[in-house]
Amino acid sequence: MSGYARERQVAIEGVALAARLTAAVRAERIDPGTLAKADRSPVTIADFGSQAAICRRLREAFPADPIVAEEDAGPLRAPGGAAALAAVAGQVQRLLPEATPAAVCDWIDAGAGDVGARFWTLDPIDGTKGFLRDDQYAIALALVVEGRVEVAALACPALPLAAGLPDSPHGTLFVAVRGQGAEMAPLHAPGSGAPIRVVRGPAGPAVRFAESVEPAHGDQARHAALARALGIETPPLRMDSQAKYGALARGDAVLYLRLPSPDAPGYREKIWDHAAGALIVEEAGGRVTDAAGRPLDFAGGRAMERNRGVVASNGDLHERVLEALGER
Ligand code: AMP
Ligand code: MG
Repeated sequence: MSGYARERQVAIEGVALAARLTAAVRAERIDPGTLAKADRSPVTIADFGSQAAICRRLREAFPADPIVAEEDAGPLRAPGGAAALAAVAGQVQRLLPEATPAAVCDWIDAGAGDVGARFWTLDPIDGTKGFLRDDQYAIALALVVEGRVEVAALACPALPLAAGLPDSPHGTLFVAVRGQGAEMAPLHAPGSGAPIRVVRGPAGPAVRFAESVEPAHGDQARHAALARALGIETPPLRMDSQAKYGALARGDAVLYLRLPSPDAPGYREKIWDHAAGALIVEEAGGRVTDAAGRPLDFAGGRAMERNRGVVASNGDLHERVLEALGER
């Protein structure tokens, strides 16, 4: 197979498998067993289970590829982690009968790889806060080669297939391969994807911009001021996770703003929070940079030290937004 066909297929299988686990935890009202990480952000049994299942699949298919993933099995291996580990292993076993607690820890820790010439980056549940709130979340997997994202698979189990139709079927999958365009498919039928494109054109009163639900993950006051300067009158599309990139790629919004929060000036964006979404937007015809117009740096490490904030757009708006931000 050529053109990353096998990588694309394995990535789709991985995120679709993990989505079955995360969706079951939510649908069956299983206690998510929320733990707090050192940075006080939440992590659940679904985060660990998703990472275990995807790393297992990637290890089988591409044993030589490092995986750089958000979670590690430390909290599950710790003395107080036995109950959470049993719950994670129980969930993973429903998908992969060979899962034992020890194997699950090893699969999760396969995600402790380093950024290099070719690696996968994974957020097993992007938007854990949205997941816990019954809102949007995503399972985000990307292959990075020589610093460029080449393959992206983004599963959004709670996202309606049709924007503005909250009762349309939920479960949306976005897929992109560099140079081959972006596609959207129902998550339960990944093979039936259709191409998606951003909505082109300049800003105007009726267009929408997207931002995080979490005020601490961006500068909502600055986003609002920028939208006013662009003549945008529609309220923002507030959505958790990289589902925002999917929304932009399929035309629900024309702009996604993520300017650094004044509450966390030292925060650096993580590669797994942007790699998959960025390729999907670019392959749908959009553009993604940081607030100063720099390309996102996926080659420097787990954190994007050289970038400040993120601006994703339909392409047509991009220069005007960067100019208004004045950070170049
Ligand atoms: P979102 O759902 O768009 O708010 O994005 C969720 C992601 O925000 C999480 O995966 C975190 O890695 C990331 N995050 C945590 N703190 C911050 C922060 N201060 N600024 C930007 N992103 C953050
Ligand atoms: Mg995340």
